[in-house]
Amino acid sequence: MSTIDDLPPLRDVIAAHGLSARKSLGQNFLLDLNLTAKIARQAGDLSGTDVLEIGPGPGGLTRGLLSEGARKVLAIEKDARCLPALADIAARYPGQLQVVEGDALEIDPLVHLTPPIRVAANLPYNVGTELLVRWLTPPTWPPFWQSLTLMFQREVAERIVAQPGSKAYGRLAVLAQWRSTARIALSLPPEAFTPPPKVSSAVVHLTALPAPRFNADPEVLSRVVAKAFNQRRKMLRAALKGLTPDIEDRLHTAGIAPTTRAEQVSVEEFCALARAVART
Ligand code: SAM
Repeated sequence: MSTIDDLPPLRDVIAAHGLSARKSLGQNFLLDLNLTAKIARQAGDLSGTDVLEIGPGPGGLTRGLLSEGARKVLAIEKDARCLPALADIAARYPGQLQVVEGDALEIDPLVHLTPPIRVAANLPYNVGTELLVRWLTPPTWPPFWQSLTLMFQREVAERIVAQPGSKAYGRLAVLAQWRSTARIALSLPPEAFTPPPKVSSAVVHLTALPAPRFNADPEVLSRVVAKAFNQRRKMLRAALKGLTPDIEDRLHTAGIAPTTRAEQVSVEEFCALARAVART
């Protein structure tokens, strides 16, 4: 029995179901249920909330989310070997855990979820950034999620919360901070995982704002930011040359010196530039 529920400890679950970690699936498991409950608490008040979890594995975070009072957890897992362990959790929390086997990049979770919805996951590193970018760029805003509580490699977490002028500041920071608040909630050393990964990790908590901080067309902003950071060492007048022939004028309209580099441009300035570029 564990401290957070009456299910067996995760080491026993892994041994019983032969869940040897597979590198190809980004499997670094969290076995300390006090830690997974702590991560679940970072997601906020879960009562009356559906939670989308990607990659439950043997179910450490899943158990944390359920013990912290989630109304329902929808867990999408690619590795079929984990399903029996997850079925044991579902039996302990009747009607509260739905497991879908498959690739999170290909499954639409919304058909199974009722708002309000939060996302919490110890993400497989190989698909983490791709999923984050998708969640940050939905067709309409506000998005389906109220918050995202996600484990990343520390370096990726730092890129999400980075401020202008820092090396880590780039497309991910602008995307994340334009329409949500982002902070690092927890830092974890490699030893927190089994097997330990090579690098440290961090949990990032993002809360969706009801509306963007600054007005801009999402598609234009995305294009401007991608181009600007594609050649981050160049001055904007050079990096953005292909965008429009009169880029220097547009930069002036946005109040940005054409000699500025992408790394120095705030989210507010990028939005002003996207508006200036969109003007016909
Ligand atoms: N949540 C568990 C924990 O905290 O111990 C496992 C985390 S492990 C870092 C990532 C999990 O994501 C693994 O269980 C892996 O099988 C699963 N996974 C990998 N790629 C996936 C994908 N494309 N879709 C869904 N799950 C995936």
